[in-house]
Amino acid sequence: MTHPAQPKASHFINGEYVEDTAGTPIPVIYAATGEQIATVYAATPAIVEQALSTAKEAQKAWAKMTGTERGRILRRAADIMRERNHELSVLETYDTGKPLQETLVADATSGADALEYFGGLAGSLTGEHIPMGEDWVYTVREALGLCVGIGAWNYPTQIACWKGAPALACGNSMVFKPSETTPLCALKVAEILLEAGAPAGIYNVIQGMGEVGGALVTDPRVDKVSLTGSVPTGKKVYAAAAAGMKHVTMELGGKSPLIIFDDADIDNAVGGAINGNFYSSGQVCSNGTRVFVQKGIKEKFLARLAERTGNAILGDPMDEATSFGPMVTVNQMNIVLGYIEKGKEEGARVVCGGARADMPGYYIQPTVFADVTDDMTIAREEIFGPVMSVLDFETEEEVVARANDTEFGLSAGVFTNDFSRAHRVIGQLEAGSCFINSYNDAPVEAPFGGVKASGVGRENSKEAIKHFSQVKSVYVRMGDVEAAF
Ligand code: NAD
Repeated sequence: MTHPAQPKASHFINGEYVEDTAGTPIPVIYAATGEQIATVYAATPAIVEQALSTAKEAQKAWAKMTGTERGRILRRAADIMRERNHELSVLETYDTGKPLQETLVADATSGADALEYFGGLAGSLTGEHIPMGEDWVYTVREALGLCVGIGAWNYPTQIACWKGAPALACGNSMVFKPSETTPLCALKVAEILLEAGAPAGIYNVIQGMGEVGGALVTDPRVDKVSLTGSVPTGKKVYAAAAAGMKHVTMELGGKSPLIIFDDADIDNAVGGAINGNFYSSGQVCSNGTRVFVQKGIKEKFLARLAERTGNAILGDPMDEATSFGPMVTVNQMNIVLGYIEKGKEEGARVVCGGARADMPGYYIQPTVFADVTDDMTIAREEIFGPVMSVLDFETEEEVVARANDTEFGLSAGVFTNDFSRAHRVIGQLEAGSCFINSYNDAPVEAPFGGVKASGVGRENSKEAIKHFSQVKSVYVRMGDVEAAF
């Protein structure tokens, strides 16, 4: 019998499901059991061509609609997503293994937020009037054209919407390629947009691995590429896009610092460290995986952290009581277990966890290492799993320098009750998305993105509009033209 997660076909192009079984089969594995629940096929060159030519053609009429009309469609799509939240959350859980307790509140809901927010903005995207004596200049905010979105596997619904909603609001069309690990959810986003009234061909989804992404990025018809992925992939995609002088947004990896001063409220700081390391089993780009704790409160912090981490409920992700799910794939589980072994070998102290959980599926125990030093592998590389490194520090100056000593710059957080210190420290941290007495909030109203190797451009907020549109300026002369000859 066909599993309910199996989509009607692999791709969604020009308003309909399309299949081409000549492409490489991509098995979809449910991480909680290891069972294969669906198969999709990577896009063949013919499918890539169909998606690009359709999206290129459809964009022209879409850009000619008023922003209010486009916005209405996006807001209708938001309403449909909210109405179907439960079924979309179940699919997200099948796609990623993340527990329903999370997906019910974080995935289709945040996708709907993006559709609603950018739908609301679409009618207000105007230019400027610049007086020049009796002449004037006016500016027009124009769509870029055809945008390509490429997703990571941790938030398949959210990423499809975070890229699609601002792109469509500005009058662009999109070809979205989900991660080959989680190909299911973006198809539902495409279906819902069509149902909400988006013209066929405005938002297309095609499947595939890196080479399909590469074919999209290098096509001369594509005007913009927005990638969520790792730094090595980002470097390749950025270079390929640069060769065609395309616009880019790069949302990449991190190894973010979370700094806890000894005057902080310990329970809030522990809560922040848990949210910043164990949500989605640690598979979050902005995670604060280097937790710097001031020496005076170190043991108290670790004791409380171990106690609360012990309350994590590992189990069936479809059981709403489960608060901690598996790694997305066996491969990701093995990578993370490799880092845990490295941490032990290099002399870090295991406070809790430190092994695979004794159950079916790809579960790793939430793991806390203490006495981690800056040079250890677990303190330098992005692990993308439930592994928290706790490092000690003494002074503010010292911790700021150590926090910044990394190629990454996605996020940073500070816990302290001294508000001048909070702002002073955040002001010095090299990161794009920061938190004071909190961690990992990502509302659509706030810009999100990194500095240094963690990326370029911003998603969400009005900033995203700038990255999915361009400004044309028009000089209007009222008098005669003077010329030298
Ligand atoms: P990945 O870099 O392996 O893959 C990302 C996407 O790029 C996939 O869809 C993949 O098929 C595609 N791809 C790979 N090679 C390509 C190429 N040469 N040309 C075009 N496309 C190509 O990342 P992943 O393992 O899926 O996701 C985990 C990574 O994503 C982590 O580093 C994480 O930090 C990062 N991430 C960042 C954010 C953010 O917003 N900053 C959010 C989520 C995840």
